[in-house]
Amino acid sequence: MAKLYEGKSKICFSTENQNELKVYFKNDVTAFNSLKKATYASKGLLTAKISNLIFKYLQLNGVKTHLIKVIDDQNILVKKLKMFQVEIIIRNIAAGSITKRLGIKEGTRFERPIFELCYKNDEFGDPLINDDHAIILNLTTEEQLVEIKNITLKINSLLQNLFNKLNIKVVDFKIELGLDESNHIILGDEISPDTCRFWDEDNRKLDKDCFREDLDDVTSIYQIILQKLESLNI
Ligand code: ADP
Ligand code: UDP
Repeated sequence: MAKLYEGKSKICFSTENQNELKVYFKNDVTAFNSLKKATYASKGLLTAKISNLIFKYLQLNGVKTHLIKVIDDQNILVKKLKMFQVEIIIRNIAAGSITKRLGIKEGTRFERPIFELCYKNDEFGDPLINDDHAIILNLTTEEQLVEIKNITLKINSLLQNLFNKLNIKVVDFKIELGLDESNHIILGDEISPDTCRFWDEDNRKLDKDCFREDLDDVTSIYQIILQKLESLNI
C-alpha cells in the first residue's frame, strides 16, 4: 500500500479501495510547530485507542465519522474524505492561544462555547480566520459552514456528557471535517489528548500540555485517559 501523506502524528496509506485509507498513528509527539519533538514507544497506540473509543461513542450518538474498522493497535481503516482545509476549534474554558491573544485568564469558563476556524496553511502558520474568510477563500460554502457549526456544537455537547462521567473537563478541542463521495460532511482525523485539552477536578492537565509545558510524562497521562474511557464500556 502506497504512502499518500505523512503528517506530524499520522501516516495515510492508500488501500485497494479508492474510497478508503489506512491511517497509522505515529509514536511521535510534536508541539510549537514541531520546534519541540519526541518519540514514545506507546504513544501511537494510546492516541489511536482513545480516538477510536471517542469516535465509536460519537457514531453511536448520531455523528457520522470516517472510522470503518480498527485494524490493529495503531492502524485504522477510514473513509477517504475531501478534507475542509480548516481546523475547527471549540473552547469551553480559556487555555492556550486565546489566553495570549486576548489576555483572558487561563481557567475562565465561557458562558457559551467559542467556535473558531483556522486556515490549514503552513506557509501562513494556520491563521485564525472568520466565516467570511472561509467562504471567500473557498474553504467551505455558506451552507456547509452552518452545518459545520451544528455538527461541531453537537460533538462538543456529546464530549462534555462523556467526560463529565469521568470528572474530566473538556477545556477545548480541535476537529477536522471532510466530505465523503456523496458530499456528506463527516468527522475525520482524530480526537485524542493530542488534539484536546482535558483537566481533572483539580485542574490537573491530562493532555498534550504535559508535553508542551514539561509537566508530566505524556504516555502515563494518556494512559489515565484511556483507562477511564475503557471503564465506561462504550
Ligand atoms: P498534520 O497534517 O497536521 O501533520 P497528521 O499527522 O494528523 O496531521 O496527518 C493526518 C492528515 O490526514 C491530516 O492532514 C488530515 O487532514 C488528514 N486526514 C484525516 N482523516 C482523513 C480522511 N478520512 N480522509 C482524508 N484525509 C484525512
Ligand atoms: N489544536 C490541535 N492542532 C493544532 C492547533 C490546536 O489539535 O494545530 C488543539 C489544541 O490541542 C487545543 C485546541 O486545539 O486543544 C486549541 O488550541 P490553541 O489554539 O490554544 O493552540 P495551542 O496554544 O495549543 O497551540
